Amino acid sequence: MCDAACPYCLGMAETKRNPPWTRDELLIALHYYLDHAGDYFSPTGEGVLELTVRISQVAKALGLTGSDTLRNANGVSMKLLNFRAHDPNHDTKGLSRGNKLEEVVWAEFADDPAELKKVVTSILNVTQAAKDGDAPVLPDDDLTEAPEGQLLTRVHRYRERNAAIVKRKKASYLRYHGHLCCEACGFDFQVAYGKRGEGFIECHHTRPVSELISGQTTKLADLVLLCANCHRMIHASRPWWTVEKLREALRQQS
Ligand SMILES: [Zn+2]
Ligand SMILES: [Zn+2]
Repeated sequence: MCDAACPYCLGMAETKRNPPWTRDELLIALHYYLDHAGDYFSPTGEGVLELTVRISQVAKALGLTGSDTLRNANGVSMKLLNFRAHDPNHDTKGLSRGNKLEEVVWAEFADDPAELKKVVTSILNVTQAAKDGDAPVLPDDDLTEAPEGQLLTRVHRYRERNAAIVKRKKASYLRYHGHLCCEACGFDFQVAYGKRGEGFIECHHTRPVSELISGQTTKLADLVLLCANCHRMIHASRPWWTVEKLREALRQQS
């Protein structure tokens, strides 16, 4: 950061002090909201204080940094009230509708509390693992974040890039089929590119993101081989496609 009070550096400092809320944090807040929809969400109430601690732990696991009040009870209480603005069971006149991501998260999960509970359980499980020091550390890439948030997106990526299991998956497929190819479109890198493509294929982890629990081992059956194009299409936008949905799209286009 430069010494002068230039707008760029001031902007950076601002971002550091108060990074925008993530999907992960909003999902935790929405889960609480749906369980306590009649509350006033007082920032001094025990429930909101406990929730603030949980959300701060999630923010920390995501690597968000800021002041000690990164997520404080006032902010958490406001987010809960913002959800109320989207709740058809409440008279929401006069409440600001909050930011766009809250609306998106509401639209995706408010009608499916059982699924949301699974997602939140998994996020908190991964957060606990991060606290214990055994969280996957991943390079960031341009993978579209899953509706279930960044932490579970990272676990997905970590699982499908585990070199040992990927090697075993390829070896097992090769033994059985005699060559490596995309299990959705049939693309074979060696056929297309010759020697350079030998042994080249990506792995995709097929378990629903909400079921990724820290410490679970990946089974060969959890992985499918995909060419780079098909794998990118699965992750290209939200919600991620299943492999079956990808195959269906390929069938429809051919
Ligand atoms: Zn393919
Ligand atoms: Zn994948």
